[in-house]
Amino acid sequence: MESDDCSVKVAVHIRPLIGDERLQGCKDCVTVVSGKPQVQIGSHSFTFDHVYGSTGTPSTEMYQECAAPLVDGLFQGYNATVLAYGQTGSGKTYTMGTGCGDTSQTGIVPQVMNALFTKIETLKDQIEFQINVSFIEIHKEEVQDLLDPSTINKSDTTSNGKVAHVPGKPPIQIRESSNGVITLAGSTEVSVSTLKEMAACLDQGSVSRATDSPENGTCNGSLKEEYLCAKLHLVDLAGSERAKRTGSDGMRFKEGVHINKGLLALGNVISALGDEKKRKDGAHVPYRDSKLTRLLQDSLGGNSRTVMIACISPADINAEETLNTLKYANRAR
Ligand code: ADP
Ligand code: MG
Repeated sequence: MESDDCSVKVAVHIRPLIGDERLQGCKDCVTVVSGKPQVQIGSHSFTFDHVYGSTGTPSTEMYQECAAPLVDGLFQGYNATVLAYGQTGSGKTYTMGTGCGDTSQTGIVPQVMNALFTKIETLKDQIEFQINVSFIEIHKEEVQDLLDPSTINKSDTTSNGKVAHVPGKPPIQIRESSNGVITLAGSTEVSVSTLKEMAACLDQGSVSRATDSPENGTCNGSLKEEYLCAKLHLVDLAGSERAKRTGSDGMRFKEGVHINKGLLALGNVISALGDEKKRKDGAHVPYRDSKLTRLLQDSLGGNSRTVMIACISPADINAEETLNTLKYANRAR
């Protein structure tokens, strides 16, 4: 990745048809143009920075192209964000590798953790490192701490096996310091020094998730004389279809409105960042429109690097949502 001061890259990850779709006799309706990062669906054609097809792209390739430059950038003080976007079932959690008890090493998150510690190992004689991990979830525009010890230690799991959030605990506040650094006041930050410790945080947090839309950030500080600090946000977004599928149920409708708010704001922010002309004119970037964009403010745009991975199903029954996802991703470029 070039050291362009505002770098937003967009990749598409097409999963294979899965069991259920095959059983229903679904057809593959997404075509990758050979040798190009271009996808076709119906009469529509989109070009992205990278396209990872369903025909067995090694997961290391996506990591190398999308996430590795961001990990390298952390060591130069660049904040970074990796976002997985797409409808429910499109492969966001698979792509990020944040699934509960996910022992596979194929997702972005496990590979990022591996790379971080590999790199630290080679530098630790010259540089002192400190890695803090937080794992949070934005649910109905509230920030929940998935590493909160009082939540984790409680055995009051709900019927679906998830740990219930402690009622009455004040939600985490997103604060901005005078130098533009965003902090999560009241969130647990676990200091980790080994891959194993970091993986344990991921496991703990995954168990506490109420929905499938968490975000986990690693804030890495380093060194004394010349202190460098960088943050990496790894984000498994809420399903992009939710807002529409909410139907008559009031509770779910409200949830859908909130999800929509975050995803809409994210689309607007990324699109504003990508629009060089607008940026030069000092156009307003609407970070404040949602908790998600507020939280990511210092890691989207400016001196940071962003990759959005749009996840899609190739099945014809999902064609409409897939087209929506591709349009959203296209706007982000
Ligand atoms: P989401 O998080 O977007 O709701 P998931 O990541 O849970 O979707 O994926 C839905 C299903 O598809 C899961 O069973 C997952 O294992 C499978 N899947 C997703 N992506 C892939 C892929 N690239 N290759 C094989 N299976 C996949
Ligand atoms: Mg998921």
